[in-house]
Amino acid sequence: MSGTNQNKDVVTVGGGLVGAVGALCLDKFGGQNFRQALIERHTLEDYSDFEQNPDKKSSGRAYALSESSRAILDVLGLWDDMKAFAQPIQEVDISDSDLDSPFRPVFLNFSGEIALGKVGAYIIEHEPLAAPIYKALRQASSLEIFEGCQLKTLDQKPDFIQLHLDDGVSLTASLCIGADGRGSKVRSLAEIKTITSDYDQDGIVVTVDLSQPHDGKAVQHFLPSGPFAILPLPGDRASLVWTEERGKAADMCALDDEDFISEVNLRFSPKLGTAELAGPRKHFPLSLVLARSFIAERVVLIGDAAHGVHPLAGQGMNLGLRDVAALVEVIVETKRLGLDVGGNVALERYQQWRRFDGVTSALAMDGLKRLFSNDQAVLRELRGFGLRLVDRLPPLKEFFVKEAAGINGDVPLLMQGKSL
Ligand SMILES: Cc1cc2nc3c(=O)[nH]c(=O)nc-3n(C[C@H](O)[C@H](O)[C@H](O)COP(=O)(O)OP(=O)(O)OC[C@H]3O[C@@H](n4cnc5c(N)ncnc54)[C@H](O)[C@@H]3O)c2cc1C
Repeated sequence: MSGTNQNKDVVTVGGGLVGAVGALCLDKFGGQNFRQALIERHTLEDYSDFEQNPDKKSSGRAYALSESSRAILDVLGLWDDMKAFAQPIQEVDISDSDLDSPFRPVFLNFSGEIALGKVGAYIIEHEPLAAPIYKALRQASSLEIFEGCQLKTLDQKPDFIQLHLDDGVSLTASLCIGADGRGSKVRSLAEIKTITSDYDQDGIVVTVDLSQPHDGKAVQHFLPSGPFAILPLPGDRASLVWTEERGKAADMCALDDEDFISEVNLRFSPKLGTAELAGPRKHFPLSLVLARSFIAERVVLIGDAAHGVHPLAGQGMNLGLRDVAALVEVIVETKRLGLDVGGNVALERYQQWRRFDGVTSALAMDGLKRLFSNDQAVLRELRGFGLRLVDRLPPLKEFFVKEAAGINGDVPLLMQGKSL
């Protein structure tokens, strides 16, 4: 392949979940002559193991998937293979207390339903979510996959863009989609500046077995070190996402199983009984990375490359899939009109649609993180007051549930479960 120069409509850099779902949507709706490529620096994830043995222990990663993200997966025909592994969230409790408090008083309680019998979000582990996505990706007929190689340089021209990979391959396209995560190379090569903030915190993730049924209840405890989320999984298990100061998170993860699980139970919700380890623990550094623009000449950013947010409200991937749905709608309409999919008109339309939501969500998570990872007495009082106030205002609660479900605002068609 060395030195080949191939023409594509679109080249996506980054085959994480966001880039992969984007490529699948373009494959389905791009039209007969649509040509695209995906570049992933690692070998694309392979889940044939999971397909053969879905009961194998999980890797510990799980996502809160909003109703609108579910809808896009449904339009792609993937949800049927995932739904048995997805736990609907029936109810959410929010509490705010000290680490050694004997109670975790609930200040705010939501029903998880957005309509009678219809929930606004699900919890699903990485493997059942990813397996059907990567299987479908291998079968996408418009797509050429370049894996195990990296983007090295970009040549942005008025009429096209060239991508040069480290293995000597060059690709020419109308548009380059940067889906290459927080440290996006596309973003830096396109000279898009960022706003960044290192939280000096890590997110610990681990799967546990519960001693009592969770009945679909998700719990968010705001503790002085940051949020501790208990996210229900099928089979009375839960995924924990827990924020600690950076050094402490590493120390915590290095504990032996017995000491680690007693730290978990110290933070747990008495209503859910006790937890037992059901998988490995991992910790991830947390930071805010927000692109100052989501577009540049013949370049567009989606997912964490555009907005890497705090995982506190479980919205990072949902925001990324919303970018996908908006961008694919813009690309497909532009292509059907016979116009340039990498031209300014298309890119400005995408930016207008997504940037406000991306920026406000990132800053809202940042503000919440600062408000809740703080043990000052006055702030604690204010938080308690605010949470109780929301609890007494049903329309505000309804707004928050719909926001988490991704059904407020200008929702792209794919996220309404509609075809393009
Ligand atoms: C602890 C934690 C809990 C979370 N919980 C949730 C949740 O409950 N719900 C939710 O919606 N989100 C959650 N998130 C956020 C979510 O995981 C991310 O927002 C999402 O995975 C980002 O996907 P992405 O595809 O944009 O980026 P990534 O997953 O980072 O993928 C980027 C891809 O690009 C590739 N790449 C990078 N550079 C290059 C290059 N130069 N050339 C080629 N390839 C390249 C990488 O190898 C990678 O595969 C959580 C995050 C954390 C840390």
